[in-house]
Amino acid sequence: MNILVLNCGSSSLKFQVISTDLEVIDRNEDRALARGVVERIGSEALITLRAEGKPAVRRAAPLRDHRVALDHVLRWLVSPEAAVPGIQSLADIHAVGHRIVHGGEKLTRSVIIDDAVIVQIEDCIDLAPLHNPANLKGIYSARELFGPGVPQVAVFDTSFHSTMPPESFLYAIPYQLYVRHKVRRYGFHGTSHRYVAYRYRQLSGKTHEETNVITVHLGNGCSVCAIRAGESIDTSMGLTPVEGLVMGTRCGDIDASVLEFLHHKEGMSFEELDGLLNKRSGLLGISGLTNDMRDLLEEEHEHQDRRAHLAIEIFCLRAKKYLGSYLARMNGADAIVFTGGIGENSPDVRARICRDLEFLGIAVDAERNAALSGGKEGEIGAAASRVRLYVIPTNEELLIARDTLRCVRNVPRRW
Ligand code: AMP
Repeated sequence: MNILVLNCGSSSLKFQVISTDLEVIDRNEDRALARGVVERIGSEALITLRAEGKPAVRRAAPLRDHRVALDHVLRWLVSPEAAVPGIQSLADIHAVGHRIVHGGEKLTRSVIIDDAVIVQIEDCIDLAPLHNPANLKGIYSARELFGPGVPQVAVFDTSFHSTMPPESFLYAIPYQLYVRHKVRRYGFHGTSHRYVAYRYRQLSGKTHEETNVITVHLGNGCSVCAIRAGESIDTSMGLTPVEGLVMGTRCGDIDASVLEFLHHKEGMSFEELDGLLNKRSGLLGISGLTNDMRDLLEEEHEHQDRRAHLAIEIFCLRAKKYLGSYLARMNGADAIVFTGGIGENSPDVRARICRDLEFLGIAVDAERNAALSGGKEGEIGAAASRVRLYVIPTNEELLIARDTLRCVRNVPRRW
């Protein structure tokens, strides 16, 4: 089955076409036939398209909205110029899987999209005002362009964390606010945490029930997840993705009173404060240079930039503190899995996070650690490390494609 996976942001559209099937999944032989991204939708858009085994094609075109952008992508996908293996017409795309950021408390599993599901996703706009409307644009556009004959599936960033107990998801504010407005921790990056936990099972030979791991997703957004018996029991992101770890531009945990303080001192409105915590903080805010970890590591190394160094150290210290608290939360874990652009590619950051944790049974093997980057998968723990340490590249698109297949075929969740 050829599945179009769509991930729509406010002015962007990322896609992959993945060929998969139940027996293909058992052999781990799913294929990404094509992938690409459209940026700056609404003006002169930048389009990058790549068919399997071919070089990327880059171009610009005025694309006024997501529907026009998707139409552009679909025309390319079926064109002889693209020559995507197995795709000659739209009939060769059998289903569409959508990444949806927020499913609230009700949408706790990947589902086939019908009118009722659309209303439920619309109901979650309050909880994710930047993300869900963009995700919905992807659904509306695909419905229009494919028609009712092609099933569409919603896969939620939040749903993996729906197994968290109330002790984990409730904030210590008046309970009525949870009852009235559903103010609680939801967590995000669920598809990523779920995927790497699944790969961990494959690599370690553990069953779902035996999966007791801490997964650490370090990308531009960062989060940690405590997985016990295969299920999320705690995670660092909260009502929104701003909570928890230090990220590229988000501050992570902060004393909430900082907001009121800055409101008075700087005369900042709530919108401005929200922008400050989400877009101007984190690595960017501390370094004053960039949100990009690779560039910060270079600045620190080449120019001994003091604030770049400070930003990296604060980033790593926060992650280390979460590891410690999640090991306590879980009564110990069998393994820690690093993923995301930084987690997959930076031996230096991984080593700093795990530094001086031997007393918790965590010890990195310097050579193994240095050898894993650029999409490689494997273990980085020293022989003496009681907690096994893994690097596992994430693949959210693959999990979305597999969930889409599962929903369309109506088979139980296995991954
Ligand atoms: P993501 O959001 O998962 O794509 O991750 C983006 C982050 O990964 C950015 O901060 C990048 O600088 C970082 N990253 C990518 N490659 C490397 C690398 N080789 N070393 C350090 N950070 C990297």
